[in-house]
Amino acid sequence: MVYVPVQCPYCQSTEVIKAGKQTNGAQRYRCQNGQCERRIFLLQSQDRGRAPDSHRQVVDLAINGSGIRDTARWLWHAIDHHTGRVLAYVIGTRKDATFRDLRALLAPFGITHYHTDKAGVYRRHFPLEQHTVGKVAMQKIERKHLTLRTRLKRLACKTLCFSRSCFMHDLVIGLYMNRVEFGCAA
Ligand SMILES: [Zn+2]
Repeated sequence: MVYVPVQCPYCQSTEVIKAGKQTNGAQRYRCQNGQCERRIFLLQSQDRGRAPDSHRQVVDLAINGSGIRDTARWLWHAIDHHTGRVLAYVIGTRKDATFRDLRALLAPFGITHYHTDKAGVYRRHFPLEQHTVGKVAMQKIERKHLTLRTRLKRLACKTLCFSRSCFMHDLVIGLYMNRVEFGCAA
């Protein structure tokens, strides 16, 4: 027989006993260390967000004032205010570097005025006189986001079809853009 000591992931104590099972059959353990902040644990968290490492990362991000907006991947696109056509798009984090890529793609269009939401990144990059912040001008692009979510099931996270790989995510959005927005046959 092989004896494998179970260690509490929170206090590293090996004074651990079995404590029943989850409804899915996974073994639950109880830490016997009275000083431990967490008494019941699983060896392999089913939910990756609850694993000690991920949890610590989430707490760190929250303390630093970051949220899901800083770590998520954003489809960032710019449309022509008059025609509603997509001019250019980038996919990346909501950081200045990603925005600079989008701005470089927009350079050939010679745009003289930008309408955006109130994200700070726009205020940092657009000159005041060329920039209007407001919800009214955002309606057309918000409508486009809704169409995207409806037509590409991969963007709706509470479905089985949600993309978990960045590669597929980029690919599907790229195909959609080429076909619907840029009018290329695929
Ligand atoms: Zn413990």
